[in-house]
Amino acid sequence: ILIENKNLNQYNPLHYTSTLAEVIKNDFDVILFAHTYQARDWIPRLSARLDIPFISDCIDVKNNGNSISYTRQSYQGKLNNDIEAQSKVLCSIQSGCFKADNIKNGNANIETIQINTDNTPNTINAEEKFKEQQGGVDLSAAEVIVSVGRGIGKEENLPIAQELKEIINAELGSSRPIVDYGWLPHDCQIGSSGQVVNPKLYFAVGISGAIQHQVGMKGSDCIMAINKDQNAPIFEIADYAIVADLLEVIPKLIEKIKNN
Ligand code: FAD
Repeated sequence: ILIENKNLNQYNPLHYTSTLAEVIKNDFDVILFAHTYQARDWIPRLSARLDIPFISDCIDVKNNGNSISYTRQSYQGKLNNDIEAQSKVLCSIQSGCFKADNIKNGNANIETIQINTDNTPNTINAEEKFKEQQGGVDLSAAEVIVSVGRGIGKEENLPIAQELKEIINAELGSSRPIVDYGWLPHDCQIGSSGQVVNPKLYFAVGISGAIQHQVGMKGSDCIMAINKDQNAPIFEIADYAIVADLLEVIPKLIEKIKNN
């Protein structure tokens, strides 16, 4: 269904909600949305308006024959919960959860409908769109990345990762907390609200592997991870797992590489 409504040209949660509420009249099992910042803003509003549950931030959808279940993560990605819906639902899917490799071309009839939401009250008005800072490091072209997570402990420990990065000729990346602490610039952040990378080697250092981080790096050819928690989710996608304290392992690794 292609909706034509001039009020949708610029994002506004009220017009988006009014439009979809108008369109969603037919019978359906699920309506899927991409789990974007905008979706998180307006789908809960739509859910309340239509009294249809919203299952957000899903990483999988399974068809069980007579029911559909939706997988969400909790406890920093350590637990996957399958939610079986008894009714129709709205569902948002995290980016990068399905591979596009085996995608098949298809056709659908496009029905164009006109919706007028001029009567929607303008109680929310968008300001100028946020623009990411320009001119930073483009990690998407990097072949080797050493990426630092909260496991590094404190800013004073960063040079350990920086030295490893230098010695293996890599770029430096990070998880979001490191950027939030102000230890590295936002250009370094990898994940759903940072850069998406696919290097030959991704070296995750003290990163738990939350889904928001994984979506930015799981396309890497080879993933090597150091984490002292053997149950850390990063190990589920890692090719090489080092279960150890990074502060002990990295200096030894650097020494070994230097001596070779
Ligand atoms: P933690 O989850 O705290 O993990 C630290 C890990 O270090 C743990 O596994 C621990 O076992 C290990 N560790 C601790 N000490 C040591 C040691 N001495 N040696 C070895 N291992 C050690 N996150 C991103 O990264 N990128 C994003 O773009 C992003 N976008 C987000 C968007 C939204 C809307 C939201 C809600 C969250 C987003 N996040 C993002 C945050 C994400 O959910 C996680 O909180 C974050 O990725 C966790 O970072 P971390 O792995 O460094 O920290």
